[in-house]
Amino acid sequence: MSQPSIVRTNTAELYDAYVMKNYGRAALTLVRGEGVSVWDDTGREYLDFTSGIAVAALGHCHPAWVAAIRRQAGELIHISNLFRNPNQGELARRLVRQAGPGRVFFCNSGTEANEGLIKLARLHGIRKSGEEGRCIKILCAKNAFHGRTFGGMSATPQEKIQKGFRPLVPGFAFGELNNLQSFSDLIDEQTAAIFIETVQGEGGIVACADEFLLGLRQLCDRHNLLLMLDEVQCGIGRTGTFFAFQHAGIRADAIGMAKGLGGGYPMGAVWAAEKNAELFQPGSHGSTFGGTPLACAAALAVLDVMEKEDLLRKVGDNGKAWKARLEKLCGEFPQQVKAISGRGYMIGLILHGEPLPFVAALRDEGLLAVPAGGNTVRLLPPLIATPDQLDRATAVIRTVLGRKT
Ligand code: PLP
Repeated sequence: MSQPSIVRTNTAELYDAYVMKNYGRAALTLVRGEGVSVWDDTGREYLDFTSGIAVAALGHCHPAWVAAIRRQAGELIHISNLFRNPNQGELARRLVRQAGPGRVFFCNSGTEANEGLIKLARLHGIRKSGEEGRCIKILCAKNAFHGRTFGGMSATPQEKIQKGFRPLVPGFAFGELNNLQSFSDLIDEQTAAIFIETVQGEGGIVACADEFLLGLRQLCDRHNLLLMLDEVQCGIGRTGTFFAFQHAGIRADAIGMAKGLGGGYPMGAVWAAEKNAELFQPGSHGSTFGGTPLACAAALAVLDVMEKEDLLRKVGDNGKAWKARLEKLCGEFPQQVKAISGRGYMIGLILHGEPLPFVAALRDEGLLAVPAGGNTVRLLPPLIATPDQLDRATAVIRTVLGRKT
């Protein structure tokens, strides 16, 4: 196993002196990863059930993914979207195969994908009302998280995200997740779209019920609204289907994706059904780094491995059995755990108390997890995690729960 190329002993001091302080960061310096494990600068191994927050779909340094990046890096890394590259064409074809007839725009992150969706909604509003600036309302969910750009933040009705950055982008209104009536009540002639996460991630692993999604689909059809789904965190296989909304059997008008798509190489994408995709014409949207040959090679390797290793089926089956085991465990500690939420490899441990000390205790025992809203500890193992690795994580959770009683 090769050693990491940069090992420094003064990383904490460098962060203290030079890195902006916009994250609550754990006192842990990670230097190497392989599969479901990462190692810190003292050589200690951790089971990584963060996957870099749902990014490392294939775990760390999957040989096929590394080989694809190495190969492409020696061939062509970046051109620009003024020219075609074969990888982008092929990746778009593969995503259309998953999402349905339509087209794809490539960008670099989740919030940038969501900006694309918000811009599509504005253009749909013009198509619908015949006038710019009239039909700009986008309905989102309370407790949502859509990113940190001005569009993303404006769609994210959380004080801790928006504070200090007002005035925001106008036109956003918020309904209660899984309460169809609350969305229906917000619709008027100025409404262009409904935009929601199929499973809220940062908000605490809260899934849209199938009937709710079906109801939103009907509302959108009835009122000529775009149904835009943020699959940035819950998409790309995380819940056992390629997109989480596929569990409900509905059709989206546009989808935002990122995170797992590049498997760790920064990449985002917008898919839109054909008649919405054509709203973007030359000049209306773009991204210098979107869909480079290298980014698309990384994403194609993710999709290839997902297919070759049958990961959707495994995430579905293993995730179901794992959730059942966690529910049983949670039943033994009702004073600490309220419930288990989520599906596949996107699982929430909903605590009665604050998640941060629990996440720190898991880390001390060698398991990395992510805190989220609603007192939730997020468990987001790489899609390649085996039942044995899920069991090892469950044993750590049991140890930490046991210590607290
Ligand atoms: N949308 C959802 C559902 C997310 O979970 C996130 C990030 O956590 C984003 C958007 C923003 O993605 P990014 O951080 O890549 O901009």
